[in-house]
Amino acid sequence: MQFSDLGLAAELLRAVEEQGYTQPTPIQEQAIPPILLGQDVMAGAQTGTGKTAAFTLPLLQRLLPQANNSVSPARHPVRTLILAPTRELAAQVWDSVRTYGQHTMLRSACVYGGVSIDPQMKELRAGVEVLVATPGRLLDLVQQRCANLSQVQILVLDEADRMLDMGFLPDLRRIIALLPAQRQNLMFSATFPDDIRKFADQVLRSPVRIQVAARNTVAELVTHSAFKVDPLRKRELLANLVRSRDMRQVLVFTSTKLSANRLSRQLERDGFNCSALHSDKTQGERMQALADFKDGKVQILVATDIAARGLDIEQLPHVINYELPPNAEDYIHRIGRTGRAGMTGEAISLVSPDEQDLLQSIEKLLKKRIPMQPLPVDAFGAPVRHVSQAAASRPTAPTQAPTQPQAALFGSAAAATSQHGKRRPQQIAALFLPPVVAKHD
Ligand code: AMP
Repeated sequence: MQFSDLGLAAELLRAVEEQGYTQPTPIQEQAIPPILLGQDVMAGAQTGTGKTAAFTLPLLQRLLPQANNSVSPARHPVRTLILAPTRELAAQVWDSVRTYGQHTMLRSACVYGGVSIDPQMKELRAGVEVLVATPGRLLDLVQQRCANLSQVQILVLDEADRMLDMGFLPDLRRIIALLPAQRQNLMFSATFPDDIRKFADQVLRSPVRIQVAARNTVAELVTHSAFKVDPLRKRELLANLVRSRDMRQVLVFTSTKLSANRLSRQLERDGFNCSALHSDKTQGERMQALADFKDGKVQILVATDIAARGLDIEQLPHVINYELPPNAEDYIHRIGRTGRAGMTGEAISLVSPDEQDLLQSIEKLLKKRIPMQPLPVDAFGAPVRHVSQAAASRPTAPTQAPTQPQAALFGSAAAATSQHGKRRPQQIAALFLPPVVAKHD
């Protein structure tokens, strides 16, 4: 199927062509026609499937009759409201709205918290047809009487599962209560737990249901693998992998802000161009880090789950889980950053002994084993020393017996001692401490 078969207007087809897209993705093929007909849609699609264009293109087309170059704000009421869970996702969706709508006269704006509200107030007062927003900031703007939602014809809930996870349900209800009862509703969600289904039943009217990937499956083009490694040597392994495999652009996940900061600083000291991305950074810093990463100025971006949610980085070949996520579902979201839109990608996890349970939950969710890779010999090829009884009784790799260097590294205090004669007692003791409870960003 071609884009031109979907019934899209010439100005939108032109924008698609300029992006270099030749064929619609499955979600686009299935969602664009019913949205053009004004139907409600509930779509199960992760980031990376082309879902943003799947709702943006037809909604822009539905607004075309109202596109005008009038200077009067009254001629540009908000007609489409797109809600997204994070600032980054909102900014990305807005990017798509501007890209695909560049040959139309539709106006758009994007509002989110963490930055000054004044310019956003000004923009909204000037009038926009498409508003992309995070829920909290939108309600602030409504309260300040800068956002009038009484003429919204289309509501889009993007990454609805994440919005509920992040506790936005009360805000969403408040916002929906401000919209006209007669409207088109589009809901996109990577997963459909019970709370999402219940919410969808309340919001959507006889929706067309679309599922482009089975629930909890990850992009097929992504290969998964893992290394078993002593937590104290994860950084060394990471640096070795990036160097030896000539990884030019790597997104690394940690489970806490603290750990993201620490790792980023250490990698800088190791000679890498590196930035950290998490919610303690200002919006400006986050945008800069992302822009530098996309431009190739930053080779390694160390991010926490929430900050990285929805990031769209074209052709990102490598995602490394420096720490496994506390919730297995987050693994899928992390991995969704790579293998996007037909590109191949690689997801590597560095797993320490205290993360075995997390690895098992991820494998259960994926319904497959993640193959273990032997540790690179050049970095870890020191002769294997005596492996203690304690180490011998630790869990071993599920799919492959540890190689010699692996056995030396995977949680063996004795091996650690003998390989690193200078290691301090508390470092060795740390190997046996209970796992630190990972706190989400
Ligand atoms: P999304 O799932 O919306 O986050 O989109 C993932 C990526 O796919 C983005 O980088 C889009 O620019 C790209 N994309 C969207 N539609 C297509 C298409 N039909 N062909 C190729 N790439 C696309």
